[in-house]
Amino acid sequence: MHADSNQRLILFDTTLRDGEQAPGFNMNLDEKLQVASALGRLGVDVIEAGFPAASPGDFESVRAVAEAVRGPVICGLARCHQADIEAVHRSLEGAERSRIHVFLATSPIHREHKLQMGTDEVLRRIESGVSLARSLCEDVEFSAEDASRTEPEFLARAVQVAIEAGAGTINIPDTVGYAIPSEFGEIFKMLNDVVPGVESIVLSSHCHDDLGLAVANSLAALGNGARQVECTINGIGERAGNCALEEVAMAVRTRQDEFGLEIGIDTTRLQSTSRLLSSITGVPVPPNKAIVGANAFAHEAGIHQHGVLAHSSTYEIMRPDDVGFSGEQLVLGKHSGRHAMRHKIEELGYALDEDSFEEVFVGFKKLADRKKTVLDADIEALIVAAGIATHGPWELISLHTSAGTGSLPTASVEVAHRDDASKAEAAVGDGPIDATFKALARATGYLDTSLTDYQVRSVTFGEDAQGQVTVHCEHEGRTVRGVGVSTDVIEASALAFLDVINRCENDRVQSDSVAPAGADQ
Ligand code: MN
Repeated sequence: MHADSNQRLILFDTTLRDGEQAPGFNMNLDEKLQVASALGRLGVDVIEAGFPAASPGDFESVRAVAEAVRGPVICGLARCHQADIEAVHRSLEGAERSRIHVFLATSPIHREHKLQMGTDEVLRRIESGVSLARSLCEDVEFSAEDASRTEPEFLARAVQVAIEAGAGTINIPDTVGYAIPSEFGEIFKMLNDVVPGVESIVLSSHCHDDLGLAVANSLAALGNGARQVECTINGIGERAGNCALEEVAMAVRTRQDEFGLEIGIDTTRLQSTSRLLSSITGVPVPPNKAIVGANAFAHEAGIHQHGVLAHSSTYEIMRPDDVGFSGEQLVLGKHSGRHAMRHKIEELGYALDEDSFEEVFVGFKKLADRKKTVLDADIEALIVAAGIATHGPWELISLHTSAGTGSLPTASVEVAHRDDASKAEAAVGDGPIDATFKALARATGYLDTSLTDYQVRSVTFGEDAQGQVTVHCEHEGRTVRGVGVSTDVIEASALAFLDVINRCENDRVQSDSVAPAGADQ
């Protein structure tokens, strides 16, 4: 399955659409802009920025990404509905280059139970949806949702209709993660063999990892003529997630002998982009994760270490440098200035405005007084805590707790509101953190916010390491995430809880994204 010449593989990133809609991965506007700008610097070919018709918040975030990010094509998802397609078109007006991505399910299960449409009706809708999109935008992609469970003959007809209506990219999703590589590759071979006009368009794969096969299935598609892969950073996405961008990119690059495909990304930015997403969402990358896990390049066994020291290629198929892997690093000291900090922030993959930069810089100076060595992960935690998470009205002024065996845990807090006087409250609880949350809820008036998940992790190593606390709370039927960082775990917890409250207040202005039923493909 050698390709005849070195063709370009189009990396289509859907971290902000398929990834963001997974539970626990929702991001606010600032966070999405951070991820989008990191994807731009990584050099992905297409960024699917969201699903504009899902909510005003989704529309606004696609609009903002289209305005802000130069380089990649910016894409928005639409069902085969006029209103959806027009919403994508409007949201992409500020883009340098734009793509409308239209989808409709083609499988018998979806036709019967979800769409209640016959095959003729499905084909008519594809024709009208793609034609409308094409009248608004040169670059149109069509996805046949649940393609891998669609009858091959009908899939071929649907693809042909979409090509004739003007789609330049045809995406074949394994929506439910059911396919295995041999049969998924066969679908692409079949389409290449039987569909008229297929040679003039790009075939694309979109795989889910329910059976752990998303990357393998994507590679099988590439081996059978696909030239675009839809993927996400860290493989995030619906259920078990999507094809991981870093894995498919490095597989294609490392095994260029097999695939004969070029990729356009700067692979040395894979680590920093992965860590940025992990920091923003509060979801850690498992240490054994391929390419970007902390252990991905660690050689523990003595015999391996000996081999690698003698010659790195004895046990290494990729160099750690190729993916920007640097391990823990002493980066900045107490006397480092703004210039060094700006350089470091850029290297870590972030783009901060002046206000956020100042917050991070002040936080760094404070941290350098409390902590001997300031590492990359410390700076990232500061960026997340100061630069992104706390753009809300409430601020923590002071916190005191007491706890111990035989005494009742208590907390007293003082918080300031941007437009109001500061408030002080005290509470008792099951422990000092519980007491702190109760006191904060009283002081801010958020009494109906209940904690559903609490996690603390050490940002770096050593006894003076910062703790990053991630909390999930239920508020008015929604799950809201908050993150806080401090060398003091109780303070980090208070900051995380206050972050939740600030997000709730901000969401009163900017409505949060909830995808309508059937939004995935
Ligand atoms: Mn999907």
